[in-house]
Amino acid sequence: MRYYSTRGTDSDELRTFTDILLRGLAPDGGLYMPVEYPQVSAEMLSEWTRIFREEGYAALAFEVMRLYIDDIPEPDLRYLCKKAYSPHVFGTKEVAPVSALPDGMWLLHLSNGPTAAFKDMAMQMLGHLFEYVLRREGRWLNIVGATSGDTGSSAEYAMLGKDRIRVFMLTPAGRMTAFQRAQMYGLDDPAITNIAVEGVFDDCQDIVKAISADAQFKEQYSIGAVNSINWARLLAQVVYYIAAWIQVSGDPRRKVSFSVPTGNFGDICAGHIARSMGVPIDRLIVATNENDVLDEFFRTGVYRVRSGTETLATSSPSMDISKASNFERFVFDLVGRDQMTVRQLFGQELASNGEFSLAGTPAFADARMRYGFLSGSSTHSDRIDSIESVYRHEDIIIDPHTADAWKVGRDAIRGGVVEPPLIVLETALPVKFAETIEEAIGFRPEIPERFAGIESQPQHVIDMPNDAQAVKQLIRQTVDAD
Ligand SMILES: *Cc1c(COP(=O)(O)O)cnc(C)c1O
Repeated sequence: MRYYSTRGTDSDELRTFTDILLRGLAPDGGLYMPVEYPQVSAEMLSEWTRIFREEGYAALAFEVMRLYIDDIPEPDLRYLCKKAYSPHVFGTKEVAPVSALPDGMWLLHLSNGPTAAFKDMAMQMLGHLFEYVLRREGRWLNIVGATSGDTGSSAEYAMLGKDRIRVFMLTPAGRMTAFQRAQMYGLDDPAITNIAVEGVFDDCQDIVKAISADAQFKEQYSIGAVNSINWARLLAQVVYYIAAWIQVSGDPRRKVSFSVPTGNFGDICAGHIARSMGVPIDRLIVATNENDVLDEFFRTGVYRVRSGTETLATSSPSMDISKASNFERFVFDLVGRDQMTVRQLFGQELASNGEFSLAGTPAFADARMRYGFLSGSSTHSDRIDSIESVYRHEDIIIDPHTADAWKVGRDAIRGGVVEPPLIVLETALPVKFAETIEEAIGFRPEIPERFAGIESQPQHVIDMPNDAQAVKQLIRQTVDAD
């Protein structure tokens, strides 16, 4: 398999998987995409079903990923999958088990990894892939990232103990939940440096950008990222859509639909890729919170990004985005993979006007008709009602993000817009967002055994001013001292 940029030109060189693994954006500002989606036949689906049932999730992950990775020998890739998706790391043999809800709905549990959020599903694999490729190439990597909570902790736990990798994670001082702080700052490892910046998430993000923009520093200190546009993360996520289909259907003639709590469009983009490969998926429902940039697009055809001040701080904070970083990948497919159109839309119109419109075009009609997309949004009170209702009727506590997808999904089922079975993706455990849960059901969720006492452990964090130079100095000192 070879990869190219959504904004490139046909004469650009095609790259291999490990070549794009450690890169962020393509040099032209686009995102890397495989030149095609391998197609799965009914026989392959049956074979994958057998493999998942007999050998488990890791074996399925290998079967899917090897279609996209041809520059890591198969025995090595199989071994990396096995290490990433062990029942020991994810708590169950299925790794991503399902449970049934009424109305033909299901929950897909993606939050049983080390940090209790679905980002572990991809990040754990990424940690092993990074280590493998860095060893092979004799390189080091200093990952510098910014987080408002989930991504940073997931990245730290994935990179922990990996050879040749250090992590410097910027967090907005005093703006994460107590549990999120405990998870990250509780790590005591010389390769992990937590930094609390006097500022908000955007300030952290700006420091990361400033560091990446210093080409000489970036090169000298081998600075890298683990951002949401990394292709390997999407690829790893494709696997659980297939595992979910196997568990709920397993019959190549019987399709399933998904409702996905959406922020940066990474998770649901993986669903789109699975569907494009021929996995029997009917509808993909984009569920947003009050920050409804994407719901607006799927309703109207207008993609209008928001400014920082227009982006609301909600009770499903991991979906508080103003601009969906993976959306360009979907639009690339929507416009028939025409790189010139993508350049025009994202490189020009969006850059200068903050919006573009596909309203009335055949491409926009395709989003629903050909690619199966639907959308909806929810509010704080919907979220509270949903958590309360699922708890009262099913005795299951869902987190606020999962609640957004449950609400939009259930409305679609009840309205007859979507046929069951409908699988709701669970993206975090309730313990991460205890305050909102308490508001909904009157008490705080129980802390899972493996996180017991986490909030009383000593914390390791360096306070820093909102200043890229100071952060660079810290990186220099840490790296040079090793
Ligand atoms: C990151 C995240 C999301 C959004 O996922 P995207 O891939 O950005 O669309 C939803 N819920 C939780 C809990 C998250 O951490």
